[in-house]
Amino acid sequence: MSNDSAPQSGLATADTTAGQTELVNVRKEYGDTVAVDGVSVAIEPGELLVLLGPSGCGKTTTLRMIAGLETPTAGTIRIDGEDETRTLPKNRDLSMVFQSYALYPHKTVRENLAFPLAKMDLSASERDTQIQEVANLLEITDLLDKQPGQLSGGQRQRVAVGRTIVRKPRLFLMDEPLSNLDAKLRVQTRSEIRDLQQRLGTTTVYVTHDQEEAMSIGDRLAIMRNGQIEQIGSPRDVYHHPENEFIAGFIGDPQINFIDRGGDHSLFEAVEPPRAAVRAGIRPEALTLAPERTQPVSFEATITLVEPVGHSYELTLDAGGVTLTALIERLPPDVGTGDTLAFGFAPADVYWFDDNGATIVER
Ligand code: ADP
Repeated sequence: MSNDSAPQSGLATADTTAGQTELVNVRKEYGDTVAVDGVSVAIEPGELLVLLGPSGCGKTTTLRMIAGLETPTAGTIRIDGEDETRTLPKNRDLSMVFQSYALYPHKTVRENLAFPLAKMDLSASERDTQIQEVANLLEITDLLDKQPGQLSGGQRQRVAVGRTIVRKPRLFLMDEPLSNLDAKLRVQTRSEIRDLQQRLGTTTVYVTHDQEEAMSIGDRLAIMRNGQIEQIGSPRDVYHHPENEFIAGFIGDPQINFIDRGGDHSLFEAVEPPRAAVRAGIRPEALTLAPERTQPVSFEATITLVEPVGHSYELTLDAGGVTLTALIERLPPDVGTGDTLAFGFAPADVYWFDDNGATIVER
């Protein structure tokens, strides 16, 4: 991980080789419910790993087992080479931020920040220094004497993050830390968390169901479904090389277009699919207005809906009865809903899936 900005405070000198965390075949059952079904992953020192997946897939349970708040039914959790599977949370040297920023409402920000330090063997002046460092880092110095009720949601979340980092733990665990913030603040705060995590170099496991948030914040994503990890990779990896239909459909916004073989869509004749292919996937951003560029494959479609999104247009298309989404950067002013025209794509941009949903990798 890059850490080329000069240390700005004592906190930045935290041990960046710590926090290597390994889950080996970790499993958690609640009665008949298998919440986590054999998860194995190695989180590298200094890395920010995102656990991403739909609600109920086992992210929080996995994080809580790393924290020691749940005991695995089977499997091993090692931190820095030591088996910590059954170690009490307070002895794991890690700290956790939850979505509900649990600040003490009747204590000041300073007192809230001091709380995690209370059990540490620090002099009063060492404690003050550490609080001051965190406050500087998070730019909350002027809030130190206020109470949580006097702060905005974003400020409260910053203080909650401050409480997590003030102790200089070897591991940060964050469970949907931004979900209580409004959309704009969420985007701003996530880049602040990313920046802070890189400056501190502290190993971090971050849970979210939001693929865009995961893509923007993670060094790597571990994408979960039904208690299992389906794919681990960098944001680029999981976007460009999804291992299966689920990943291809989960990553990317607007969602990838799936086209079944056997329908009479001409796509399959036009690009010679691999023999085992039963479905194709084409990302909306891979479709273009054919006249824009010379595209090897083109097809006719009728525009049924035009939605401006940022600098692009999201078009809903009817291509011979198949509904497709296209993300087009430049839409000629005379083109709109009801028009039928040619669209195109490059065969290399098509993903093919077999009848198990696995991506077919052609060699
Ligand atoms: P996620 O964080 O991905 O939304 P969770 O880890 O919270 O998923 O939950 C995974 C599964 O385990 C869900 O089916 C959930 O209902 C179940 N589960 C989680 N915690 C408990 C519990 N304490 N008791 C019973 N079932 C639970």
